[in-house]
Amino acid sequence: MNCNIAVIKGDGIGPEVVTQAMKILDAVGEKYGHTFNYEQLLMGGCSIDVHGVPLTDEAVARAKASDAVLLGSIGGNTSTSPWYKLPPEKRPEAGLLKIRKELGLFANLRPAYLYEQLKAACPLKEEIANKGFDMMIMRELTGGLYFGSRKTEEIDGVMTAVDTLTYNENEIRRIAIKGFDIAMKRRKKVTSVDKANVLDSSRLWRKIVEEVAKDYPEVTYEHMLVDNCAMQLVKDPAQFDVVLTENMFGDILSDEASMITGSIGMLASASLNETKFGMYEPSGGSAPDIAGQNKANPIATILSAAMMLRYTFDLDKEADAIEHAVKQVLIEGYRTCDIVSEGTTLVACDEMGDLIKQRI
Ligand code: NAD
Repeated sequence: MNCNIAVIKGDGIGPEVVTQAMKILDAVGEKYGHTFNYEQLLMGGCSIDVHGVPLTDEAVARAKASDAVLLGSIGGNTSTSPWYKLPPEKRPEAGLLKIRKELGLFANLRPAYLYEQLKAACPLKEEIANKGFDMMIMRELTGGLYFGSRKTEEIDGVMTAVDTLTYNENEIRRIAIKGFDIAMKRRKKVTSVDKANVLDSSRLWRKIVEEVAKDYPEVTYEHMLVDNCAMQLVKDPAQFDVVLTENMFGDILSDEASMITGSIGMLASASLNETKFGMYEPSGGSAPDIAGQNKANPIATILSAAMMLRYTFDLDKEADAIEHAVKQVLIEGYRTCDIVSEGTTLVACDEMGDLIKQRI
């Protein structure tokens, strides 16, 4: 297969971790007979330094012309970097918002997986952590409360703020279809999370999810109220496969799910549009505190590249190979500084990349 990938290394640790992910993709290409063509684009602080804006229209056009985007991270130290003296629409993060909007990325996927070797970092009780968990939080990214109209005004001398939560059936249907499609690639279970006992938008959500579920007879599905889901995530996370939910609930639940895995440096993510196109990036930021020191954990970015192979290119076997190689280095006791513990071997960012590459 010939795969055209727009690569945005970005700022901080971005270039270090993306370089490792490209190394792994090349090893996969060599072993399984694929060609990965990379086009490097600027976004974030590095684009401000060169072009004066965090993302040029030309970079957007080139990203759109690719099959997928592999992103590191953008931004700098928000207290000391000169990028944060600029008006908000010129800062690094504005590039990220612009590219998400331009590419129509409405489905955000964040896997939360507990590695056997990293169980000690899980903040849950041992008997819960021992059962392990492997879930995909699927969050709607472009609708709901964060995009509804809002205002703050004084009514009869009292300051009053209003935010509106709007979803139409098309927005719900397209994310539900993605959720069930992804469940078909996993353990075939969807938990749709809402607040249907109170909210109209949730009642519509539930109705549309039920309609979509009819097209996926192999997938088991259930509805769960968001407050219960927040509790179940810490009580029995092993029960979840795909957790499908709207924007704000997903924002909160995906952070809760990532917290119980114990390490930000291990967490991949993907944002998809209606086609197979996606943007793949680690969940963490640009970590300016360790940037340029060859210390960062590249695993989240490497696992994001695996997600790209699985969800954009349908290369499941190749994605499995990367995930197995990552597990193997952990079993053998290699760790970057963020996950190192007694009895394990500390390695640098590029060494971790090499070790994973050798195990592909
Ligand atoms: P951060 O995720 O960059 O860092 C938080 C902590 O986690 C730091 O101690 C950092 O060293 C550590 N960390 C993060 N990723 C790591 C990795 N791969 N390996 C080892 N340690 C890792 O969050 P922050 O400090 O709040 O933000 C720093 C910058 O990143 C800010 O400019 C912020 O706006 C930006 N940011 C960008 C994105 C993105 O590009 N999508 C996301 C979040 C934050």
